[in-house]
Amino acid sequence: MKMVFAVIGDPIDHSFSPKLHSISFQEQGLDCTYVPIRVLQHELGQALKEFRKDLAGFNVTIPHKQSIIPYLDALDSTAQRFGAVNTVKNEGGKLVGYNTDGIGFMQGLQEVADLNTIRKTLLIGAGGAAQVVALELAPYSSITIANRSRLRAHVLAEKVKVLYPGSTVRTVGLGSVLQEKYDLVVNATPIGMGEQKDQIPVSSLILRNVRIVYDLVYNPQETRLLALASSVGCKTLNGLSMLIYQGLKSEEIWLGRPISKALKERIMERVRKELTKHG
Ligand code: NAP
Repeated sequence: MKMVFAVIGDPIDHSFSPKLHSISFQEQGLDCTYVPIRVLQHELGQALKEFRKDLAGFNVTIPHKQSIIPYLDALDSTAQRFGAVNTVKNEGGKLVGYNTDGIGFMQGLQEVADLNTIRKTLLIGAGGAAQVVALELAPYSSITIANRSRLRAHVLAEKVKVLYPGSTVRTVGLGSVLQEKYDLVVNATPIGMGEQKDQIPVSSLILRNVRIVYDLVYNPQETRLLALASSVGCKTLNGLSMLIYQGLKSEEIWLGRPISKALKERIMERVRKELTKHG
């Protein structure tokens, strides 16, 4: 029987996941379907009863990544660690939650850096994506969290310290980031996309002593931050590889088998072209 997958969220119209998975299923010669489904917050419980019958698995995006947890039958260790779910596998009617964002972020980073050389990180943002970044990097790097809301930055820093005792985490306001030597700067805010396309999250002066700038925004593929970073000699990376790797990891979970590196590269190439074509 044809397997049907989905991404659920609200809004969902602009999700790139249907395109990514249709390219991937095509490249793998799989007769699977992947559809976007708008699910409002109050509809979640009822919708999940239907998905339990109809879907082999699905991705979860804003605003359901946390609110879905009570409805699931089990969580794997990644979902437990992040307190958020982006992938659900239907195991014979049992819904199991996973989180593939961390692996997506790290696989993207490994394209440009040896993780053991990342010792000092400036993380901009303290929301869901920033939490993933902080928890993944804490075993490797000291982390300075710069966020608009200092309270949120502080809450994230405390969580990191609890999960990684001995890690070095500090917080600063967005306007108070000092020009220091960083191995890595990560933008985990939406600044640089949509209406904030022409903005940068922190002063460009801080880029002078930075080795790698990783912007989790993937549309546009070169944000203003990345353009400025390139112009002063930083290595740069956008959020596209994270998006693709987390999506392909979801497929590996659903289908129970790995996708080869060569295939991942082919999918990545086609997705990049597609995104460039449609902006
Ligand atoms: P979120 O939980 O809503 O967090 C948003 C973060 O951005 C918060 O730290 C927020 O600061 C900050 N922020 C938002 N607007 C701001 C502004 N105008 N000025 C300063 N700070 C602002 O969202 P999220 O899930 O973490 O996602 C953040 C971004 O990461 C997304 O927009 C997306 O581009 C990117 N992302 C990419 C991938 C990928 O696969 N490439 C995956 C996930 C996310 P406050 O705490 O002060 O509100």
